[in-house]
Amino acid sequence: MDTVVLLLLITFPVAALLFGLYSIFNDFYKYFAEEVRYWIKIRQPISKDHLRILKKYCAYYNRLDTSQKPEFERKIQRFMYSKRFIARSVPVVTAEMRVLISASAIQLTFALPGIYLSNFDKILIYADSYYSQITKKYHLGEVNPRAGMIILSWHHFVQGYGDLDDGYNVAIHEMAHAIHFENLIKNDEVAFLDQHALSSLAQITNRELPKINRGRHLLRSYAGTNQYEFFAVTLEYFFEKPVELNAEIPDLYQTIAALLRQDPLKLYNFSN
Ligand SMILES: [Zn+2]
Repeated sequence: MDTVVLLLLITFPVAALLFGLYSIFNDFYKYFAEEVRYWIKIRQPISKDHLRILKKYCAYYNRLDTSQKPEFERKIQRFMYSKRFIARSVPVVTAEMRVLISASAIQLTFALPGIYLSNFDKILIYADSYYSQITKKYHLGEVNPRAGMIILSWHHFVQGYGDLDDGYNVAIHEMAHAIHFENLIKNDEVAFLDQHALSSLAQITNRELPKINRGRHLLRSYAGTNQYEFFAVTLEYFFEKPVELNAEIPDLYQTIAALLRQDPLKLYNFSN
């Protein structure tokens, strides 16, 4: 009897120890396997299917110089495989959604070395506008930096790129918010935006906000809400109405060009 008790006393902690070790090893293995998969994926060239989607639907990609396209594809690949795309009211996340949402982010960060909006590792996709329990309003998109989420209505995403020069583009708008937050969040991508250009932007924002709120302004009235909406709406105009923005508020256009290190006016000339 004593031997049985002794055996039980030894067996139980040993089994518990082995189980603990197995759990730790299993977690480590899963994490390691995931990292290896990601490491391999981001080094692979973009798939033929994904490239076909880019060529068919991404005007920005098509306007790039031939020498810039491989870099854009590489960045798409890395962005796409570093995010979790989550279907909310869409039945499934399609390849078009993955590629084109990634392209909308890379459109803004293309010339910013090593910037993949790393705080935002989840992209939630709704079929249409959705009701937010937090704001008690319907949204077309939003970013949640605490939860690391970028949220988009696919219907409005498509609508935004359906008309390339109306100054409305929900994806550019939300990615602009994400860049703004990413620059402030203390991680490996903190403070990547040029400080001098940010100071100019703050001065221009203070000058323009009262003008927007008095009416008759190039930027739509929503830009007058606060400095964040001013930045997000300005980026929609920067990419979709660069001629008008540069003509009406040239210092704002040049400041955004300095912040993002790219100039849509020159980009658009590539295709001419
Ligand atoms: Zn906004």
